[in-house]
Amino acid sequence: MTTWSRSAPTPPRVTGTTRVVALLGDPVGHSRSPQMHNAAFAALGLNYCYVPFPVRSSALRPAIRGLVALGVVGANVTIPHKERVVPYLDELSIEARLIGAVNTIHLYEGRLVGYNTDARGFLRAFREDTGVSVRGGRFLVLGAGGAARAVVVALALGGARAVTIANRSVPKARQLVRRFRRLFPSLDWSVVTSFRALPPSRTFRGVVQATSVGMRSDDPSPLPVEWLNRSLVVYDLVYSGPTMLLKAAEDVGARHAGGLGMLVHQGALAFTIWTARRAPVDVMRRALIG
Ligand code: NAP
Repeated sequence: MTTWSRSAPTPPRVTGTTRVVALLGDPVGHSRSPQMHNAAFAALGLNYCYVPFPVRSSALRPAIRGLVALGVVGANVTIPHKERVVPYLDELSIEARLIGAVNTIHLYEGRLVGYNTDARGFLRAFREDTGVSVRGGRFLVLGAGGAARAVVVALALGGARAVTIANRSVPKARQLVRRFRRLFPSLDWSVVTSFRALPPSRTFRGVVQATSVGMRSDDPSPLPVEWLNRSLVVYDLVYSGPTMLLKAAEDVGARHAGGLGMLVHQGALAFTIWTARRAPVDVMRRALIG
C-alpha cells in the first residue's frame, strides 16, 4: 500500500470535470514535468491533471488534432517534436517564432497557440540563480540546437551586447548565427570553429552550456576547463546534477548554476498560460527535487 507523508504532494484526484494538460514527446518516461505540474495544480486547488503521452513522430499530426477533439487545456511539447509541431499550430508567440520551436501549447477558443517559455525561463533563472544581469555582456553559448536557440533569443531580448557560438557541428553554428544576425543586427555575433581559437575568457561575462553533454554523470566538460576564470558566470542547462563544467567552475571560484531553475521557470510560465494563475514556483521546485 502506498503511504503519503505529510510533505508529499497529494496525488491528483480525477473527477468528471477534471481538465487535462498533456505532455507530448518520445520518450516521456524520464520527464519530471508531471510531478512538477500536478503538485502545482494541487497546491492551487485546481481540478487539472498533467498526463504524459509518448507520441511517435509519425503520429504527431493526429495527436495534435486529438488535443482539439478532446478539448484539453493545452500541452507541453518535448524532444523530438518541438520544431516539428510548428506547422500544425494555428498561431505562434513572438518567442516561438524567433526560436522556431514550441514547448507549450494552449487551446484557446478552439485555436492551437504555440509558445516557447524556455527563453524567458532561462532569463529568470539566470538572474535569480547567479545574481548577474545579461544586459551589456558578451556570452559564449555552447550548442546550436533548440535550447541554444532559446538561450540566444533570451540573451538578445535581455540586452546582451555580443554572442559567440561554439558547436560540435560548425555549419550548424554558422547557420544559427546567420539567422540571428538578421533578426538582431545590433548584437555582435560570431562563431568559434575550435576551442584553440577562443578569445580570452576575460573578454566574456558568461558561458551558457546548451548542449546535451553532461546529462550522463561521467560526461566530460564540453569546454576546456583551463579556459575558465573566476570572473566568469557559468550556467549549464543540464539539470540532472552538477556537471563536470559546473564542478570546474566551482573549482576556479566562478559563479555558476545548473538548469533546474530554468526547468522550474519555463514550467511556471507554461502553468500561467494554461491557468491564468500565478504559478507556485516554490512548490514546483520542491516537487522536482523531492
Ligand atoms: P538538441 O536540439 O538535440 O541539440 C543538442 C546539442 O548538443 C547540439 O548543439 C549538439 O551538437 C550538441 N551535442 C550533442 N551531443 C554532443 C557531444 N557528444 N559533444 C558535443 N556536442 C554535442 O537538444 P536541445 O533541445 O537543444 O537540448 C540541449 C540540452 O539542453 C539538453 O541537455 C536538454 O535537457 C537541456 N535543456 C534544458 C532545459 C531546462 O529547462 N533546463 C530546457 C531545454 C533544454 P551538434 O549540432 O553537433 O549535433
